[in-house]
Amino acid sequence: MNTDLNRTRPMGVVYRRNISVFLVRLEEKTISCRLAPDCANPAVPANRPSIAGRHGGKSRKELRAAPEPVVGDRVRIERIDSETGWITELLPRRNQISRRASDAPSGKILAANIDQVLAFCALGRFEPEWHQLDRFLALAELEGIPAAIILSKADLLQEYGRQADAVSAEADAYRRIGYPVVAASARTGLGADEARSLLRGKTTLLLGKSGVGKTSLLNALFPDWRLRVAETSRFGEGRCTTSNAELHPVGDGAVVDTPGIRRLALWGAEDLNPAFGFREMQPFVGLCRFGVDCRHTEEPGCAVRRAVEAGRIGARRFRSMLHLAEDRP
Ligand code: GDP
Repeated sequence: MNTDLNRTRPMGVVYRRNISVFLVRLEEKTISCRLAPDCANPAVPANRPSIAGRHGGKSRKELRAAPEPVVGDRVRIERIDSETGWITELLPRRNQISRRASDAPSGKILAANIDQVLAFCALGRFEPEWHQLDRFLALAELEGIPAAIILSKADLLQEYGRQADAVSAEADAYRRIGYPVVAASARTGLGADEARSLLRGKTTLLLGKSGVGKTSLLNALFPDWRLRVAETSRFGEGRCTTSNAELHPVGDGAVVDTPGIRRLALWGAEDLNPAFGFREMQPFVGLCRFGVDCRHTEEPGCAVRRAVEAGRIGARRFRSMLHLAEDRP
């Protein structure tokens, strides 16, 4: 791809993928795009000026190996007409989030260029799944992405009140570590202003198990958000119903939803000490006798365990870290 030519082309953001069609948002318009065979991207240097029907001098294997755009990617496009175009360049990513997949041993990239993660944990009759929440927070931390917490279905806490004190103690503990925490209810509107201000002007990745109330909360915060994504592709593919991520413009920001994701991967960060995913443990990791090789289980001179015993690190968060460590490839 001719990079000088590319520089003059308009830049948009990929917000959905339907099989081989990428929906690109460009100045408030949606353009259905296909990937130009010799699309320029940061990993595979380009060498040919034209796109349509050519393979840019690359073998089929090389083409398959080239990184493909994902939701959140910034791309340059060459318009075919007012509604369709070719993606001619994939711009470098700031970050990316992957999920585990049996057909992709190194993980499948879900989304890129995320400003923040909003990790959901639902309240209700049973003990909230704090370990799951910690996993999401660690993932964001290891990727260097800021995170905030939504305690969803907060109206249920009034119904099942005996848990309220324990929940508010946990919420305070997260705040002390530095995470914003919003108790929100799609039903009563509790926390709506705070949640809206967390989302303002940012591209936010929502992480939470299916059923925690992500969709309901977004609908409550932005009643028209569904309408804004109800476009169909000119290339004929229907609405995507797989577990692909999808970016929705909301207000002056965007949210990336990841339906059906059961396991998130820590690709790229898997050789880091898992305690680095837990902010309050970071200062202690390097003080362990075995340094960053310490697994914080039975090693002598473990500074993280000592900090847990001294009450400087919460025992529950420590157990979350050990679970995460056990789960690594
Ligand atoms: P998602 O899978 O995370 O998008 O979850 P949904 O938004 O689809 O919600 C799952 C279920 O939880 C639905 O039955 C909702 O009615 C219910 N729900 C969602 N938000 C709330 C809430 O704030 N309070 C209560 N009590 N129920 C909620």
